[in-house]
Amino acid sequence: MELSLADFIFYIVVACFVMVPIFTVVSRTLHARVERRSLANRVICRLCLYAFEDTSHVGTVNCPVCGALNEKGRSRRLG
Ligand SMILES: [Zn+2]
Repeated sequence: MELSLADFIFYIVVACFVMVPIFTVVSRTLHARVERRSLANRVICRLCLYAFEDTSHVGTVNCPVCGALNEKGRSRRLG
């Protein structure tokens, strides 16, 4: 019993259908992790609403656009 070309292609297609959801989940997980990390460093200026990232470990950061002092951290909500 030999593996015909049609069977071979069929198995490849089946393998792709199996792999795509796996890659989707993996890439989504990795992306979510990166996004969460970048969100921790994201600062939205309370004055001009300019969003920027600051990787320093200080609690307050100056807006590069208007120079206003902003508190870092996602606990701070708008309002
Ligand atoms: Zn600003």
